[in-house]
Amino acid sequence: MPSRRNLLIQAAGLAGAALTPTAWTSAVAQTRMADSPFGLGVASGEPAPDGMVLWTRLATKPREMGAGMTSAPVAVRWEIAEDEGLTRIVARGRTLAVAEAGHSVHIEVQGLKPGREYWYRFLAGGHSSPVGRTRTTPAAGAEVDRLTLAYASCQKYSAGFYTAHAALAAERPDLVLFLGDYIYEEAEKGKGVRPHPVEEPVDLAGYRHRYAWYKADPHLQAAHAAAPWIVTWDDHEVANDYGGDQDRTNPDPAVFLKRRAAAYQVFYENMPLRRAQRPVGPDMLLYRSRGWGDLAQIQMLDTRQYRNRRTCDAVSDGKRIPIDCPERLDPARSLLGERQELWLQGELRASRARWNLLGQQYLMEQLMTRLGMVGNDGWDGYAASRRRVLETWRDSKVSNPVVLGGDIHCFFAGDLALEAGGPAIATEFVGGSISSLGASASDMKLLLAGNRQLKFGEGETRGYGRVELTRKACTVTFRGVENALVEGSPVTDLAKFAVEDGQAGVKRA
Ligand code: FE
Ligand code: CA
Repeated sequence: MPSRRNLLIQAAGLAGAALTPTAWTSAVAQTRMADSPFGLGVASGEPAPDGMVLWTRLATKPREMGAGMTSAPVAVRWEIAEDEGLTRIVARGRTLAVAEAGHSVHIEVQGLKPGREYWYRFLAGGHSSPVGRTRTTPAAGAEVDRLTLAYASCQKYSAGFYTAHAALAAERPDLVLFLGDYIYEEAEKGKGVRPHPVEEPVDLAGYRHRYAWYKADPHLQAAHAAAPWIVTWDDHEVANDYGGDQDRTNPDPAVFLKRRAAAYQVFYENMPLRRAQRPVGPDMLLYRSRGWGDLAQIQMLDTRQYRNRRTCDAVSDGKRIPIDCPERLDPARSLLGERQELWLQGELRASRARWNLLGQQYLMEQLMTRLGMVGNDGWDGYAASRRRVLETWRDSKVSNPVVLGGDIHCFFAGDLALEAGGPAIATEFVGGSISSLGASASDMKLLLAGNRQLKFGEGETRGYGRVELTRKACTVTFRGVENALVEGSPVTDLAKFAVEDGQAGVKRA
């Protein structure tokens, strides 16, 4: 067992790796700040049995371009403790927040105990950050009875209030999965229910301003401070409906990849991610697995970066393509790219976990959005890619696959099968959205009538999902905000489902 003193030294050395004494002294000397630099709150993420990432990004004036920060580095201290009052500190250290990283700080804490809660904070400029709660995962393979997580997606700022985040924070789940559309990149001036006077971002400064505008929201900050997050992205973190180097509005891939590089860099700066996820130019490794003892493995996918180009454009109405367009079934086409598909197959075959949660950006099952028409942006445009995932689950006898998704701004629960009416191989729970607007009740009626594999759908209510895993069952509760267009609206259970161990398919609970 490492001693407590050794732990302190180890953690401090790790975080301060790039810190020369001179840089530290000059940064310390000029960082007495009039305003708190913690205007964007704190976060943690990527929990492991021995630690996690602690995150903050300094901003004295979050809603101004440049966030009130100068180009000077700022000295930041951090500490993590076994109690909420931060009296039993187990690790601490210091680092520099630099302008080149948008004054973001990512600390990878190591040497903690598995399967327990911790509390942390940052100190800078004579101010203390709020205290965040986080936790380590159970040891790899350890026998675990329970995991409670929340999942969320799609939080267009101008479209509604983050009441769902306040409710999610109050639940203090073990874990939060965020499944994409953390920001929306479009100009939203004068639209929606709350002001959002921010230009459409195309470069580092623009994306930083956009994230800061979102992250200044107190409910979003509360959700980050309540539990460690594991995040992935969808399209709006970069540009609407982009895929690979293909952008809907800019046909030149070279120009678009510059924008993608800026967007990925700023995504990294604003999320509690490990160094392994730090982008290199327009590339960023975001697909990865996380374990929760022997109870769960979570595979997080990136369906945006490596996909093949959109197809069936000649017969498309823009968003939809005919279900019988043969190219969408082409086995050479992939939503994930070959490397990610092979990686996923390997993870699934090797997993010994009772529950295998697939965190991804879409509704995974086929959805006819109009008679004979399916979408071209998600799995329906890459049907062979979806088939290969289902076949891996079936052929490798993967234990209890459960898909969690976002993007569609509706709550859906359904069964995933290889053929229509065939046996369920996996179970799927999607949405809702935190604030982005979804389908009307009349549209939802048509969708459910035309897609019998969907057992539940609700498009007018904003919210998030709660997942409770035990060895016997996976219970999913859709949590709905009565009215996300006004502040402080009540949040209630919309619907509750169960998946029993060994039996794919949705049941009402
Ligand atoms: Fe969305
Ligand atoms: Ca989306």
